[in-house]
Amino acid sequence: MVLDSTHDVKRRSWVESAGVSDGDFPIQNLPFGVFHRSGEDDRGGVAIGDSIVDLRALSATGLLTGRALDAARAASAPTLNGLLSLGTTAASALRAQLSTLLSVDASPEQRALSARCLVPMTGAELSLPVAVHGFTDYLCSLDHTMRMGRTTLPAAFKHLPIAYNGRPSSVRLSGEPVDRPWGQWTSEEEVRFGPETALDFELEVGAFVATGNELGRPIPIAAAGEQLYGLCLLNDWSARGIQSFESAPLGPFLGKSFSTSISPWIVTTAALAPFRVPSRRRETGDPPVPEHLDDPVDRESGAFDLTLEAFVVTPAMRAAAAAPARLTSTNFRDMYWTFAQMLAHHASNGCNLRPGDLLGSGTTSGPTDASRACLAEITRRGADPVNLPNGEQRRWLEDGDEVILRGRAMREGCVAIGFGECRAIVRPALDR
Ligand code: MN
Repeated sequence: MVLDSTHDVKRRSWVESAGVSDGDFPIQNLPFGVFHRSGEDDRGGVAIGDSIVDLRALSATGLLTGRALDAARAASAPTLNGLLSLGTTAASALRAQLSTLLSVDASPEQRALSARCLVPMTGAELSLPVAVHGFTDYLCSLDHTMRMGRTTLPAAFKHLPIAYNGRPSSVRLSGEPVDRPWGQWTSEEEVRFGPETALDFELEVGAFVATGNELGRPIPIAAAGEQLYGLCLLNDWSARGIQSFESAPLGPFLGKSFSTSISPWIVTTAALAPFRVPSRRRETGDPPVPEHLDDPVDRESGAFDLTLEAFVVTPAMRAAAAAPARLTSTNFRDMYWTFAQMLAHHASNGCNLRPGDLLGSGTTSGPTDASRACLAEITRRGADPVNLPNGEQRRWLEDGDEVILRGRAMREGCVAIGFGECRAIVRPALDR
């Protein structure tokens, strides 16, 4: 990953809100999303400070050229699948020209024309950035897997990134509520059907596939990095009672498929280049990384240094206007497998991936207690309730609880960039 002028710490934007020190969207970020203003249709945009650059409007100004113009035109559609299908180099071309246009070094004409394409975030409604046709959920944290399995690691865990096919139709945007699902579980040796009581969140990172691959043609590990378009935050809601009853032998089904929430902005791998770190080293006694998942570049810079947090706001906290209570603080760099390895593994049997397919990392738990990234770990499956600052306790999520995920890339000598939020309120189970 090469650093260029778009990562320059000295670069400043004439959009003043992009310069606040703890903001998620400085000029070094420029993440892609989809938005509309009332009365208009959805189109692609780029977040800068508290505003959005309307890419449809920008592509009509004459300011963009070449691959950047192609990318902005593709992003004028109601979903970004067309943009993603142009690949990461087109995205980087658009990123470079946007960075110039939004910088204080832009010419007065560039600045005036671009300013007309800015929409305040407060006046815009965000939509799902892509039409998700495929969603695959992985299990990449060794610490999560050990805690959930209690003692034993699945036989395959250290040989391949374990995954199952998730449900793309219920992938939803941050802000949309989640209905407590109905399902079957066992209680006192009886099988019951009703609203799930053991409702949980999972703090994960999502990755969007760029061009993808043809059926039958694997993606070599050395080419997997350029298939990673960008990342988002992902809450893999989990109905633990349903999941534990149904999962043997075919894996999760209704315990997961009722809802998956994602944050609205795709933070590109280009923007994340300064925050790449070596992948997790294997310990003595671990099996070697299989050859088809091993690559020197991935070893050197396959992981992302991302601080990830999960918070809860209960109805009582909301009524008292209390600050969200932090449940988890973890880092994505500690995962056992990288996204490039997940992608190469996914396609290693010839399975085709398509632009906008979504990969979930799996719960991003780290080794410490503070980095347990779901309630099943924090409360030891409901046995040890977590104490909230206002005296309330939680074993599992209750109706009206809101879960908020945040993510940020930070590094000495770099401008920190953020993901925005992924949040959703749990609604009571629908009456039947
Ligand atoms: Mn998960």
